[in-house]
Amino acid sequence: MELTREQGYTAALKLFSEYYQKQDASTLSPGKTNMREFGIGDFERKIKFRHMEFKDNSELKNYLSTKTPAFVSCSTAYYAHPSFRPMENKGWLGSELVFDIDATDIRLDCQKSHGTSWVCDNCLTKAKEETIKLIDEFLVPDFGFSKSDIKINFSGNRGYHIHIDNESVLNLDSNARKEISSYITGAGISFDDFFNTEEIGGGKRIKRLTGPKPSDPGWRGKIARNVIKDMEKGPEYLISTGIDKKTARNLYNKRALIEMGINNGNWDIVYIKDKAQFWSEVIKNRAVAQSDKIDENVTNDTGHMIRLPGTIHGGTGLLSKRVSMSELQSFDPMSDAIALHGETIKVKANARNILIMKGESFGPFSDEVADLPVYAAMYLFLKGAAVLSA
Ligand SMILES: [Zn+2]
Repeated sequence: MELTREQGYTAALKLFSEYYQKQDASTLSPGKTNMREFGIGDFERKIKFRHMEFKDNSELKNYLSTKTPAFVSCSTAYYAHPSFRPMENKGWLGSELVFDIDATDIRLDCQKSHGTSWVCDNCLTKAKEETIKLIDEFLVPDFGFSKSDIKINFSGNRGYHIHIDNESVLNLDSNARKEISSYITGAGISFDDFFNTEEIGGGKRIKRLTGPKPSDPGWRGKIARNVIKDMEKGPEYLISTGIDKKTARNLYNKRALIEMGINNGNWDIVYIKDKAQFWSEVIKNRAVAQSDKIDENVTNDTGHMIRLPGTIHGGTGLLSKRVSMSELQSFDPMSDAIALHGETIKVKANARNILIMKGESFGPFSDEVADLPVYAAMYLFLKGAAVLSA
């Protein structure tokens, strides 16, 4: 017998509750628990109630174990009185700087075939690469944050939240946060900021494209260094970034010459059609993808709420999991963020994409009944690709 959606949700919350009961209260702490505002949601709305506070981690754990919500969020801000309302009465004491990397904000071909609600291996890999890019190419070299100030959290679905909790960022206002996110996303930068067409050769009207050198600071050096690095990766890589086949081969074959030119600021060593357009695209690929929504809300908004690390994502049943810098490279959410265990669950599944969890493939399913491990059954159910059977 098939369970209704509501009965399925009840079964999911029971599993979530069992998970929370087994956790040490400290693993559910966002840090400074008593200074954060909390929000909870059901399966329909991720934040349905907010302005909640918990005096310590065990009160929080007790709440999650007994009142078990589908989604739990906490403020990136610290307050004197987290539950007071309206917002002005909370007594803002500072906010972490948070970046939200989501696979749907990165241009990915796989999403055209599987849609935006499904998450494949490529989506997860690309989101991770974007996270590493944010840290290694921006936060550490350009802003000087130390790796110990940076906390990484898998979102529980298809992305990562990067938190910086450092005295120097706590009191930044919205404008300063907006400037940081604009720098990282490359907002407002254009080809003309970095490249120049110089007339050389006297009366012959020969023009030469000049541009950044690898030794230049900030974005200039980043562009030059990365173009050189990208060429070394081979034609296939260049094609994957959107460069056409012929140009990719040309760049790769002449990379030693081109590199020599770029080292001296000369970007005109090889012929490229529509140069300005071409290099503009290359620059765009070097920025960190963040959605407009995130731009406005997460990095900038000092009153923002974000998924509580250590809690279960109600849309997947996966953990929103803390990942250390050293674990990130090998972190596989579909194995390492699994929270739900127990006996197999019978489902009737309808999923045209293959699901891979813990290295095991499930599906595709077309209205088929199957006995699946709890985590796979719940993942499909919460993604709307299966109904549970009794
Ligand atoms: Zn994908």
